[in-house]
Amino acid sequence: MVVDAPPDRTRLIPAMARGFIGRCPHCGRGRMFGRFLKVRPECDECGLELHHHRADDLPPYVVIFIVAHIVGYLILETESAYEVPLWVEMGVWPVFTLLFALGLLQPVKGAVVGLQYALGMHGFATLPRSRPASGPEETRLAAAAAGAPDRHSS
Ligand SMILES: [Zn+2]
Repeated sequence: MVVDAPPDRTRLIPAMARGFIGRCPHCGRGRMFGRFLKVRPECDECGLELHHHRADDLPPYVVIFIVAHIVGYLILETESAYEVPLWVEMGVWPVFTLLFALGLLQPVKGAVVGLQYALGMHGFATLPRSRPASGPEETRLAAAAAGAPDRHSS
């Protein structure tokens, strides 16, 4: 009797890095986001279901934590080293803060979804049957899916 081995789960840091660049944490090829912050229901490359993530408020919390520390430090350094007119600072810092926060929001949300995937949280306990492949590897996987025993491990 042949028992299918469970598919490999991507480790924590690579899964979060893949999510950070907007890729599927499982295969690293499919796109995670359909729109700016809208996670796709599933990966179109490997079929990993992404709809049951629960990123919720963690991404904005992390973004606020990062942006506030960096912008606060920059404001302090600028105030200490230069005499910048108040109207310049009132114009520059809010715009910089807004753009920085908006730029970080999607990558951080992707990393949070990658974190939940890597830890098997919220329905990520089940993985797709196999990773996508191309060429001879795809043929091998198709043969394995058809029931042929597969002892190759990589
Ligand atoms: Zn995928």
